[in-house]
Amino acid sequence: MVCKGICLRHKAIKPSNIGRYLAGQKRCQVCQVFIKWGGFWCPCCGYRLRTRPRNKKYKSRLKLEQEIQ
Ligand SMILES: [Zn+2]
Ligand SMILES: [Zn+2]
Repeated sequence: MVCKGICLRHKAIKPSNIGRYLAGQKRCQVCQVFIKWGGFWCPCCGYRLRTRPRNKKYKSRLKLEQEIQ
């Protein structure tokens, strides 16, 4: 699992009003970037992408945002 720099081509910009995961962005722990990618695996290093927030505070905020929408 090593970053080859491909992820930079898919690097996602931080959304101003909604959370990153809500915007469809995924986090690669190996590359340490948020990318805009349709698959479950990182196109760069091949590691499984994180699609949900890890901390509780963010999670509750996500839930709130989903209820609003
Ligand atoms: Zn990478
Ligand atoms: Zn990666």
